Amino acid sequence: MSSKRILIVEDEAPIREMVAFGLKRAGFTVMEAGSGVEAHAVISDSLPDLILMDWMLPDFSGVELTRRIKREELTRDIPVIMLTARAEEQDKVTGLDSGADDYLTKPFSTRELHARINAVLRRSASVEQTELLKVKGLQVDVVGHRVMAGDNEIHLGPTEYKLLSFFMTHRDRVYSRSQLLDQVWGANVYVEERTVDVHIRRLRKALEDFELDGYIQTVRGAGYRFSAPGD
Ligand code: CA
Repeated sequence: MSSKRILIVEDEAPIREMVAFGLKRAGFTVMEAGSGVEAHAVISDSLPDLILMDWMLPDFSGVELTRRIKREELTRDIPVIMLTARAEEQDKVTGLDSGADDYLTKPFSTRELHARINAVLRRSASVEQTELLKVKGLQVDVVGHRVMAGDNEIHLGPTEYKLLSFFMTHRDRVYSRSQLLDQVWGANVYVEERTVDVHIRRLRKALEDFELDGYIQTVRGAGYRFSAPGD
C-alpha cells in the first residue's frame, strides 16, 4: 500500500515542522504550505489524500480555502481537518459549515491528531470503495484506477484517465475547453486550450480501439459533451 499524502497548511513554521515530523514518523508522505495561495497551488497540482488546515493564515483564512476546495469538482472529495487555536463553539460551527470533515483545537497531542487523521481517512476510503463508474459498455474502477471495456482493460495516460473520470461523473452536459482545464488540469495550471483537444483526441482514439465510438461529442463553438451513444 502506498503511503497516504498529507498536506499541512500552517503559517507557523515550528508547529508545521512538529506536525510534519510526527506524520513522517507514522509513515505518511508530507507536503507543506505556509500560506493559502501556496496551499491552493499544491492542492490542485498534487491532489493530496488529506489536508490539515490551519484556521488563521496570513493571506486568506483556512475556512475560505476549505470552501474553495469543497467547491471545486476535482478537490471536493479531499478530506480536510481544520486546526485552530480558537475554542469557541461558534467557530467550530463555522469551520464545519465550510465543509471541513473534522476539527481539532490547538494544542493537540500527536496521538490525538493521528487518531483523527486515521478516522477521516477510513471514512473517505469507504466512500471510495463504492466508486464504480459505469456508462454503457465502459467502466471506471476508481479504487483500482482501471478502465474496462467489457472484460478488456483500456490503458490510458493520467490526463486521459482524469478526463474520462470527470466526464463519467458529469454526463450529458457541454463543457468549454477552459472549464475542462479548470476541472481536470486545475485552475492554477497554465495550459493552452488546444491541449484539451490533444487529450480529447487521445481519449477518443483509446475508446475507439475498443469500438466505443461516439461517447465524446464535439459541440461546435462550445466545447465537448460526454454521453452514451444512442441515449
Ligand atoms: Ca496560523
